[in-house]
Amino acid sequence: MSRVLVIGCGGVASVAIQKCCQVDEVFTEMCIASRTKEKCDALVEKLKGKTKTVLTTAKVDADDVDQLIELINSYKPDLVMNIALPYQDLTIMDACLACGVNYMDTANYEPEDTDDPEWRAIYEKRCKEEGFSAYFDYSWQWAYRKKFEDAGLTALLGCGFDPGVTQAYCAYALKHEFDQIDTIDILDCNGGDHGYAFATNFNPEINLREVSAPGSYWENGHWVEIPPMDIKREYNFDQVGDKDMYLLHHEEIESLAKTIPGVKRIRFFMTFGQSYLDHMRCLEDVGMLSTTPIQYNGQEIVPIQFLKALLPDPASLGPRTKGKTNIGCIFTGVKDGKEKTYYIYNVCDHQECYHEVGSQAISYTTGVPAMCGALMMLTGKWIRPGVYTVEEFDPDPFLDALDRYGLPRSESHDPKLVD
Ligand code: NDP
Repeated sequence: MSRVLVIGCGGVASVAIQKCCQVDEVFTEMCIASRTKEKCDALVEKLKGKTKTVLTTAKVDADDVDQLIELINSYKPDLVMNIALPYQDLTIMDACLACGVNYMDTANYEPEDTDDPEWRAIYEKRCKEEGFSAYFDYSWQWAYRKKFEDAGLTALLGCGFDPGVTQAYCAYALKHEFDQIDTIDILDCNGGDHGYAFATNFNPEINLREVSAPGSYWENGHWVEIPPMDIKREYNFDQVGDKDMYLLHHEEIESLAKTIPGVKRIRFFMTFGQSYLDHMRCLEDVGMLSTTPIQYNGQEIVPIQFLKALLPDPASLGPRTKGKTNIGCIFTGVKDGKEKTYYIYNVCDHQECYHEVGSQAISYTTGVPAMCGALMMLTGKWIRPGVYTVEEFDPDPFLDALDRYGLPRSESHDPKLVD
């Protein structure tokens, strides 16, 4: 028996909500709240007669802490699932603290306005001290640790696939496969084809910011930063085939560098087709990825937000996308004094996801782990006062839940390594 408040009703949230409704013996009551209430109402309509979960909806501006507090106090949930945008992480954490409720999200905080001078000053200091320049990092949310500890509340950060499942794979490898992990390569392959020359698989603003940023990886105790898309490798992915992949900065590297003892190198690679990269480079060159507002015909326009309005809605890609994703981690290290390698990954089919929940695999591979993370918290398996990333909890029940609810693991004890 539990009461959950979900904030956001976009591509990822709609999968997570539908999956929660499949586990209606745990998710007994759920309120779906977002900026556009009509989307929440439409999802409830779609779920009518398919679940015992008692569903309600609400309108909320999650940038406004007072509105959030009012909603949380009136609904009194056991858990708030933040599946809005990373911009809202801190306001929702503040509201959870004020109301005494556990919190989880799927991506770490980044500001909507990266030109805000107050935020920039802190950011530039962090770039110098840490050595990577991505707009997102864990420092903002790790700063809430003591507050959550003192309040006896749990905050679970980044419980999607990557971040999220990839960290559980690392915790699993450390628990069952290795005494010492030396290197981790996280490989995110999307072998899906939606037939458009250019579209993003999740929120375009967040996605384009991430992939147009400098790449970076962790090596021998420090960050190494490289120009965007500077390191390219080819890899033959199970059930997908050969793909080009590029080294990106990714948030879980930051936490894994702290939580996997003695790890020497952590890298993250994502596959991109040439058409995607050509479009992105061109859009960036003409300023369309900028978050700085410009005046146009007497109106203020944020270029990347205007671009988002032109691009296909990621939620509309579901019926068109064919092919599979393959996301996982390759490890090297030592077990019982012997060197070994290990690969754990999930393969997910875009069309199967569409037939089950009406979404493509990118939303599915994020929404299912969000549901499974919530399940871990609501059943008391992942409750510990403080602010934690996924690899800090026992991976076993989480991976079992993923196996059961749509993202089963595959393994190889003799994988091809990435140079
Ligand atoms: P969408 O843009 O599809 O959905 C975002 C939702 O949040 C929309 O319903 C939107 O409302 C709502 N929202 C935005 N701002 C506010 C606000 N101020 N108040 C209330 N609601 C708001 O995004 P996705 O579903 O693609 O992504 C959701 C999250 O998942 C993001 O944080 C993203 O970074 C993360 N993600 C994580 C991945 C992982 O593997 N860990 C992978 C992919 C995504 P409206 O409809 O009105 O715009």
